[in-house]
Amino acid sequence: MDDVSRLLGEAVGVDDFVTWSEWALARVGFRPSNCLALVDVCRDELMSGFQESVARVWGRPFEIGSLAAMVLVGTTGLRAALSHVPGEDGRHRFVVFVFPHIGIDEGVIGRVQRRGLSRASTACGALAGFRDQLVAGEGDFGLDTDDVEQSLLRMRLARLLPADGVPSLLELTELVRRTAVADARRFVDLARGSEPVDVAVVSGLVVHLPDEQDQVTLVDAEVRIEQQVIRLPH
Ligand SMILES: [Zn+2]
Repeated sequence: MDDVSRLLGEAVGVDDFVTWSEWALARVGFRPSNCLALVDVCRDELMSGFQESVARVWGRPFEIGSLAAMVLVGTTGLRAALSHVPGEDGRHRFVVFVFPHIGIDEGVIGRVQRRGLSRASTACGALAGFRDQLVAGEGDFGLDTDDVEQSLLRMRLARLLPADGVPSLLELTELVRRTAVADARRFVDLARGSEPVDVAVVSGLVVHLPDEQDQVTLVDAEVRIEQQVIRLPH
């Protein structure tokens, strides 16, 4: 199966996805009234529709995303979120949405049409820019205090790349998803100390199609309550 078919084969509309998340998480005790939503998406304005849909159901979220949906908020950010989380029954609950994004236009992965721009642009632009540097043979990435998020993105991802060849944009996007899920979990674990916090992590990709149509695909959902891990089939 080619990449476009794989992405679109199981894609659903954003609102349908959010409705599913409410239904699926209610079965394991996560409700909008007893959770704080943490949302990790890229800063790109193309993601505002997704954010609004999540907020309509799950309430105003604590934003943990930066460029490309990397999670750079760290333990300080998670400690702040933890102090805002409801705890009506003595348990705190986070529902974490991790959704990097990618465009598809005329069958080309990474391309997206934007209002008011006659030429196609890229999504995710931050990741496409990083990939261009890899293609050009750059590899020695350090912190740039004038470009903090992008330089941290490069440093975090560079050490996870295969030794040979440059990954496709889709492979990089999936790497961001896995990395962001792992980082969000680690920050929650470091921030929570001995406090009981149940965590649901829902991740996937948002695909931008022509005419400002967004779809959600490759969804994965896992809930951790105490030592128990529950997978939620999408
Ligand atoms: Zn982006």
